[in-house]
Amino acid sequence: MIRQDDFVSSLAGALQYISYYHPRDYVRALAAAYEREASPIARDAIAQILTNSRLCMEGHRPVCQDTGIVVVFLRVGMDVQWDASMSLEDMVNEAVRRAYLDPDNVLRASVVSDPLGARRNTRDNTPAVIHTSIVPGSTVDVRVAAKGAGSENKAKFTTLNPSDDLVSWVLQVVPAMGAGWCPPGMLGIGVGGTAEKAMLLAKESLLDPIDMPELKKRGPSNRIEELRIRIHDAVNALGIGAQGLGGLTTVLDVKILDHPTHAASLPVAVIPNCAATRHAHFVLDGSGPVELPAPDPADWPDVVWVPAPGARRVDLNTVTREDMQTWRSGDRLLLSGKLLTGRDAAHKRIADLVERNEPFPSGLDLRNRFIYYVGPIDPIQGEVVGPAGPTTATRMDKFTDLMLGRVGILGMIGKGERGPAAVQSIKAHKSVSLIGVGGAAYLVSRAIKAARMIAFPDLGMEAIREFEVENMPVTVAVDSEGNSIHETGPAEWQARILRLTPI
Ligand code: SF4
Repeated sequence: MIRQDDFVSSLAGALQYISYYHPRDYVRALAAAYEREASPIARDAIAQILTNSRLCMEGHRPVCQDTGIVVVFLRVGMDVQWDASMSLEDMVNEAVRRAYLDPDNVLRASVVSDPLGARRNTRDNTPAVIHTSIVPGSTVDVRVAAKGAGSENKAKFTTLNPSDDLVSWVLQVVPAMGAGWCPPGMLGIGVGGTAEKAMLLAKESLLDPIDMPELKKRGPSNRIEELRIRIHDAVNALGIGAQGLGGLTTVLDVKILDHPTHAASLPVAVIPNCAATRHAHFVLDGSGPVELPAPDPADWPDVVWVPAPGARRVDLNTVTREDMQTWRSGDRLLLSGKLLTGRDAAHKRIADLVERNEPFPSGLDLRNRFIYYVGPIDPIQGEVVGPAGPTTATRMDKFTDLMLGRVGILGMIGKGERGPAAVQSIKAHKSVSLIGVGGAAYLVSRAIKAARMIAFPDLGMEAIREFEVENMPVTVAVDSEGNSIHETGPAEWQARILRLTPI
């Protein structure tokens, strides 16, 4: 007999748990990648993610400002009896509500209803995406993940011809994913079944722990394991590296699940998992709620991020376009002073106002300001702002020319690469695109010393705020001449890797 409250409180507890505890296997694999990494800029990014991870473990605050959409895989035993008045779906959503609104560690509500229309935030991160199977037995097996949009948005699906090569397809799609999925992470690959089955397998495969080092040590025992190693090594040989900056480690593991398929089909899906790897597994057997054990702090490596020795200090209150022209792609900066925040919905509103020739809300003057693409988590007691890392910059590409031209902003801070049109615009306006590290949101929030609402408060986390920052670490991704670290970094490291391990 499984009691409703045992189910709800166990799942709510697991969601809180995964918001601030990275899985041990991820920390261990990332620590090994840090030791191995030869690219200074990628090593710096990994150091930020590891430092952030430790701070979150100690402070019980989320590893990333995007606390994800909840995905639950349930295996319900056929002999289970429920002491519950809610449906299973309602119990899951009640757990999500409880976890995301927990005042001790408020998580970000990111889910919107009416996705093609009003896109209204549901305010409590419900509903979850729920997959249920009925299996023999008398227990309820729960696997839960909180999936950030940056990595989820890079999911790819195709139907190959049965004789096509899976590895070649993966090697085509991974570079096209760009850096917005915040590597180093994992690739989940689903093969077979039908279109939706392949996607589901890809997602489910990401719930398994990282075991690539063990697999390589013992050697593959079947075709799937052989493929996992081949794809892992081939993807890392692309040189994409942490945050797409160029380096030795892009993926820590590659998982594959397969299923029988039609003789004429080879459906394949790939879904990446990002630096905010968040998942947990527990089993309810009727004996009460499950509380997951706190990890051992000794599992975290002794890595403490400090600013790179050559990092330039930039005063945002006095910086000029002329100063910006001395910054080169790949330079590391420490920003101090005031910047404005704004992401998808705020950009759309600004664009609509400009198009209609209407004035901006009073107090909103974007001219000669830097815009930080961020949707922060609400602060809890003692915080200026909750975790506040960068969001994917390419989503703002279509607004970039308008923002740099007619609106007159100075530059932008986000994560990942910029598309060709945005790079052209950056070059034409002698601007820059800067990046922070995706997956280091709590660390970044420590650089934010003050925050105030400026415009569009109804947009919640997407409102425009002014942040006062002190030594906020960023890297120049696209400089005023249009050079992009996301082009040059991977190209350089791909060539280096090839020289080290020629095929
Ligand atoms: S680490 Fe990157 S992709 Fe993952 S949730 Fe955070 S911002 Fe999104």
